[in-house]
Amino acid sequence: MPPTYPLTELMGDGIGAELSRAIHTLAEALPVRLEFRPVDLTLANRRARGKAVYDEAVEAVTSTTVALKYPTVTAEESPNAVLRRRLDLSVIHRPVYTIPGVPTNFRRDLDFDIIRIATGGTYDDPGRAIGEDAAVSLRIVEGRPVRQAARYAFDLARKTGKRVTSASKYTIQKATDGLFEAISKSVAGDYPEVPHNVELFDALLGKVIMTPEKFQIILVLNEYGDFLSDMACGLAGSLGIGASANLAFDPSSAVRVALYDAAHGTAPDIQGKNLANPTAIFLALSMLLIQLGEIHLGQMVKTVTLDLLREGIRTGDLGGTESTDSFTSAVAAEMTRRLSATAPA
Ligand code: NAD
Repeated sequence: MPPTYPLTELMGDGIGAELSRAIHTLAEALPVRLEFRPVDLTLANRRARGKAVYDEAVEAVTSTTVALKYPTVTAEESPNAVLRRRLDLSVIHRPVYTIPGVPTNFRRDLDFDIIRIATGGTYDDPGRAIGEDAAVSLRIVEGRPVRQAARYAFDLARKTGKRVTSASKYTIQKATDGLFEAISKSVAGDYPEVPHNVELFDALLGKVIMTPEKFQIILVLNEYGDFLSDMACGLAGSLGIGASANLAFDPSSAVRVALYDAAHGTAPDIQGKNLANPTAIFLALSMLLIQLGEIHLGQMVKTVTLDLLREGIRTGDLGGTESTDSFTSAVAAEMTRRLSATAPA
């Protein structure tokens, strides 16, 4: 019997159905059984059933502990924001790396894991006016999500043999960023084998451009992570091809639930045309497999997808001629070929 893993599949809008078909085709080629538990998060169902849809989603994700989410239309509410709040998804893991075949203005290769605290910073307080010509907002840094993010970053570094860089403006924001760096340093103490260094965030931005090879796992507060992710994606040229993990933790800072999604939206202009590029959702599945402990298999899904892009097997958005179906079949066939080549005789 192959290992069996239940996972929640959060069905979305637009190209979501095509991406789901692609995921199921790829899953068939894997030597594990993925037991998909679908929850209908389409706009029509959200409008018809309201809060009950989210109750169902939260119950399913909590029980399977891992979920794959397809893009959803933001209308009355943002499903991403609702799920983040209801599932307490306090940390975002966003890998950003150069993808062969994706045009970019940047000539260097980069390969980062950005670990971003998803709450607080300057984003939880919209601020208020003071008199006619001034305004103020609160910057909030809480120890709990910082500790969770730091543990996650150092665990990832331990698993992958990488280094952790924490970055902030601790010399100026002494209380808030100082707390962040103090917690990072104290967590680093529990991982003596993991190299850790601290950078000022403005200096980090320059260094990332000049010497990207020096950075691997980068741990940052909310707004810094927001800025850094978009800059890194811009350098990699892959704004639409990235995937993220949204993570919630238990009291011991172990991952309690993990929700994986693609960075792009529902692409209504190409819906139903067999043109959608499934690369981002395949990369999301790759991260999900790694979280399940299927590290080799997860890495293989990523490598095979990127190798095919490098060989010129690409969908139209990347200048290729493949359809969603033909690209998916090519990835599934190459997975099967490599798995049988590495299987014990
Ligand atoms: P979008 O990412 O859907 O589309 C931007 C452009 O990129 C379009 O030309 C589209 O065809 C193309 N594109 C996107 N994904 C693609 C793919 N996988 N393959 C090939 N081409 C692809 O962004 P948008 O048009 O700003 O948003 C459309 C809808 O998506 C909105 O309703 C928005 O609320 C929603 N959205 C959802 C999420 C999410 O659920 N995570 C994220 C962003 C946007």
